[in-house]
Amino acid sequence: MSLARITSLHHVTSIVGDAQEDLDFYAGRLGLRLLKRTVNFDDTSVFHFYYGDGVGTPSTIMTTFPYTGRGMSGGQEGAGQITRIAFSAPPGSLAFWKGRLDEAGHRCGEFVTDFGEEGLSISDPSRLALELVEGEDDVRTKPWTPGGIETEVALRGLHHITLTVRSPERSADFLTQALGFEVAGDRGSHIRLGVAERGPGQLVELVPSQNAPTARNGLGTVHHVAFSVPTDEAQLEFREKLLSMGWPVTEVRDRQYFRSIYFPEPGGVLFEIATAGPGFAIDEAASRLGGALKLPPWEEPNRGSIEEQLPAVRPP
Ligand code: ZN
Repeated sequence: MSLARITSLHHVTSIVGDAQEDLDFYAGRLGLRLLKRTVNFDDTSVFHFYYGDGVGTPSTIMTTFPYTGRGMSGGQEGAGQITRIAFSAPPGSLAFWKGRLDEAGHRCGEFVTDFGEEGLSISDPSRLALELVEGEDDVRTKPWTPGGIETEVALRGLHHITLTVRSPERSADFLTQALGFEVAGDRGSHIRLGVAERGPGQLVELVPSQNAPTARNGLGTVHHVAFSVPTDEAQLEFREKLLSMGWPVTEVRDRQYFRSIYFPEPGGVLFEIATAGPGFAIDEAASRLGGALKLPPWEEPNRGSIEEQLPAVRPP
């Protein structure tokens, strides 16, 4: 019997617009820690920002490729896509967040999830649909508390991601049979699945859309979601399992802070399985994460020309 387990979400990656606006929103306004300032390893003219909790715990990580001025057109929202990213807000914190976001001119909608939690819906500067969901507290993570954000209200990490797909049942079957998820809630066609304790940061939701256009990646869309495994062995075990199911899956890729494999789920959304380690303190001190532009060793010789092409930014 397989011992490999997915323990939580790992990260979500989006294609966004202006780099400075992105930093100001995710680090400045939402108070996430800028964990790493690097480049897209597949296109070094573009930044890759990693945000998360104080130490980069898997399931707290939001990453962005800010593509403004780099010839990326707008994406198409639709079926076969992650259409919402929900962050976990601790109990009693939503009034604080509504005040903080209103004050900065971000319009918030108040709502209750299909599973009974209170939430705020907002858009990021690239019009990505975000939610802050107030559920049980996520005690697995290390909240980051920059000025003006106390521990009691600091965002805990991701809560769940929402996939819009043509057939939620097919995606649910894949999540349960291939990846070890279990159904945590079913409201008609709206399904919530979870791994491990099925708490915040361990959830995926599926909503159906028969009529939506087919999604296309571009500015203002989510590119993929990654799930966390504890070890390289667990990752290889999942890779073998997917191959034995006849499923297309990439080789293991070195992402410097973790190792990754990528594959599509049946609804068309790109999935990744990422290792929990080695983590973000591999190339700068834990106390100074995000402080300097970090490049993978194989790009260091090109640092001069890479820095010249990147837009100037003011990190938080
Ligand atoms: Zn990824």
